[in-house]
Amino acid sequence: MPAIHPLPIVILALTMLASPGSAHGPGKDNDFGGRRVLVFGIDGCRSDALKKAVEDGRAPNLSSLITAGSVTWNAYAGGEPGAAMQQATSSGPGWTTVLTGVWRDLHGVADNRFRLHRIAQHPHVFRRIKDARPTAYLASFCDWPEIHQHIVGASERAGQPCLDCKETLVPDPARKGTDYAEMDAKLTAIAVEKIGSTNPDAMFMYFGNVDEAGHGVAHPGGRFSPTNEHYLSALTQVDKHVGEILAALRARPRFAEEDWLILGVTDHGGIVKSHGGQSPEERAIWMLASGGRAPRGKVIEAATPQTAITPAILRHLDLPIPAEWTQPFALPAK
Ligand SMILES: [Zn+2]
Repeated sequence: MPAIHPLPIVILALTMLASPGSAHGPGKDNDFGGRRVLVFGIDGCRSDALKKAVEDGRAPNLSSLITAGSVTWNAYAGGEPGAAMQQATSSGPGWTTVLTGVWRDLHGVADNRFRLHRIAQHPHVFRRIKDARPTAYLASFCDWPEIHQHIVGASERAGQPCLDCKETLVPDPARKGTDYAEMDAKLTAIAVEKIGSTNPDAMFMYFGNVDEAGHGVAHPGGRFSPTNEHYLSALTQVDKHVGEILAALRARPRFAEEDWLILGVTDHGGIVKSHGGQSPEERAIWMLASGGRAPRGKVIEAATPQTAITPAILRHLDLPIPAEWTQPFALPAK
C-alpha cells in the first residue's frame, strides 16, 4: 500500500496563500497587522500657500489631518545646495526623491526628461515593500504620467510588477494641461472605487491641479503665491478630493481595526509663474503625517529634507530603513 504523503496538501495550501486577494483582506487581515499607508502628493503646492489656506479654513480636510497629526512648514526640496545632492525644484527630481528616499547624486534624475537615471538601483519605495512582503497590495493613482512611466517603470522587474493597481490619466497635450481640475476629480473617483473594492496596504495619490494653477493666469503678486486667489482655489479643490479619499477609507468595512498612516507632501514650491531654481520660494515645502505613531498637534520646526517621506512609509510598516537614509518624518526612528 503506498504511503500517504502530506506534500500535495502543503503545496495546495501555499498556492492558496500566494493567489492574489486571498492573503489580503480589510482590517488586520494584511501583511502588516492592520498597518497601512496613504501618501497624498500635491504637485507644486507652496508651503506658505497651504499654511494660509489651513489658517483661513479653506483646506478643511488637510487641516483636520494636521490637527490630528504632525506638520512641518519648514521642509525643503532641491537637495543640499552646492553639492552633488543639489537638484532642480521640478517634478522629475522632486517626485523621484519623495518616492525613492534619495537625492539626485543617487537617483540621477536631473529634470523631467528622466535621462540616464539610476532609479533601478534606488527604486520606488513600493518596490522595497514588495521585495520584503511579496503579497502586499500596492496602488498608485496619477495624472502626471511620468511618475508611472519612469519611477514605477524603472522599479519593475521581469515577472515582478512594483504595483498591484496602477491608474494613470494622461493630460491632453492639445489642452496644455488645463484639464487638471477635471483629471484630479476623475482620478479621485477611480481611487474611491478601488479603496472600496480592494485592500491597499500602501497607496500613492497624486494631484496636478495646484501646480497647473501656479503656471496659469497672471497675478500681480505672482501666480505661485498665497495671494493668488486662483492658486488658492485650486488648493481648495484638491482638499475636497482629499476629503473624498478620507471618507472612502472611513467607509471600509473594518476601518476601526486598521492603522492608517496618512502622509502629505509636495514636490516643490514656485516663484512668479514657474519653478526649478534654488530660491527659498521654490525650495520651501511642507509635509504632514497623521495616524500611526505620528504625534498629535505637533509642529516640527527643524528643517526637514524631502527624503524623509520614504523612511516614514517603511517605519510605519515596520520594514527596515537603509542605514544611510535620513530619519523618518514625524515618526520615531525606532
Ligand atoms: Zn510645475
